[in-house]
Amino acid sequence: MSTDDESRLCIVGAGLAAAGMADALSDEPVSVTALEKSRGVGGRAATRRRDGCRYDHGANYIKDSDERTRELLTSLGADGLVDIDAPVWPFDGEGTISESQRPESHKWTWEVGITQLAKRLFGRTDADIRKETRVDELEEGQSGWTISDTDGATHGPFDAVVLTPPAPQTADLLRATELVDGDGDLAAATDAVDQVPYRTIRSLMLHYPFEIDRPYYALVNDDRDHDIGWLARESCKPGHIPDGEELLVVQMAPDWSTANYDKPVDDAASEVAAKAARLLDDDRLTEPNWVDDQGWRYALPDAGVDSEAVEPLEAHGLYVAGDWVVGEPRAHEALWCGVDVGKRLAATV
Ligand SMILES: Cc1cc2nc3c(=O)[nH]c(=O)nc-3n(C[C@H](O)[C@H](O)[C@H](O)COP(=O)(O)OP(=O)(O)OC[C@H]3O[C@@H](n4cnc5c(N)ncnc54)[C@H](O)[C@@H]3O)c2cc1C
Repeated sequence: MSTDDESRLCIVGAGLAAAGMADALSDEPVSVTALEKSRGVGGRAATRRRDGCRYDHGANYIKDSDERTRELLTSLGADGLVDIDAPVWPFDGEGTISESQRPESHKWTWEVGITQLAKRLFGRTDADIRKETRVDELEEGQSGWTISDTDGATHGPFDAVVLTPPAPQTADLLRATELVDGDGDLAAATDAVDQVPYRTIRSLMLHYPFEIDRPYYALVNDDRDHDIGWLARESCKPGHIPDGEELLVVQMAPDWSTANYDKPVDDAASEVAAKAARLLDDDRLTEPNWVDDQGWRYALPDAGVDSEAVEPLEAHGLYVAGDWVVGEPRAHEALWCGVDVGKRLAATV
């Protein structure tokens, strides 16, 4: 990459891979622009607010499974950082809950929600984040990359572009990409990206005007034989739910989620509330006083992309990053993938 003083990088998306990358490049002579289709940063590590409640309706928490993640979280400041104390317990396809035998690791979020991770990372960079900007075409020219969005605006030129949307959306962008030459590389990369398999999750949020007291924070279906994949009590995260209330985040299993993806929210919520009531053995749970809903069509990649197929694009200044690039559907893996790509880019400046 080269210009007179700074290289110009465009990141498509402003989730954790993008945030990690911007952070890794903050001391480098690289100007970073992130184009994000939604109104906020964080991607699938997202938080909503309603009626005095905050809830993480995508990623639930960050596991600090390694030293560098621990150090990074610490470097972002301890104010408002939350370690969820209560454990995660398993349940089986019959709905039988058992006490967890696994050692508990830290489970981090923030009082004001998990979006803090991306906000704090971007917040310590000079990245120019252009929200509500949905990229739909990319063109490599002699003076760099030009990117068009769905409102007809163009952005650039840039010396390099990193695509971070989930693999199926990145494949669509690759189909809408023009290279100066190298169409064969582009076709092979698009095929490889298209092949990354995904699980779909529909999350239903069920709010109750009373407490639900249990010895666990969340339940996970470990034999993958129940319609509910995950059920969490958001009240276990300080700052999220007012005293005397509860909000359950119920992530439905992929088969149920795919079959019921377009079901009207009221019908889906009453079905899910009935299942939650049965699992927790509490009839009151059949009637939440309000509900919320989020479909994650591309929730979790089940494998990584064939790296040899996408690497030839890097000669054009076109990179990919995200959980699907490493094949690990975890927030910290997406973040570190972004950091690693950022370091590779910095080495070319
Ligand atoms: C329901 C659910 C529960 C999860 N639970 C956990 C958990 O407890 N712990 C954990 O570690 N991980 C969890 N994960 C996984 C974790 O959320 C992801 O691995 C991680 O957030 C992926 O980050 P990313 O940057 O790769 O992608 P994303 O977060 O998907 O970021 C991509 C960004 O690109 C944007 N975008 C897409 N298309 C365009 C376009 N055309 N133009 C502009 N912008 C675009 C998107 O809006 C998004 O902001 C969960 C995920 C889901 C869905």
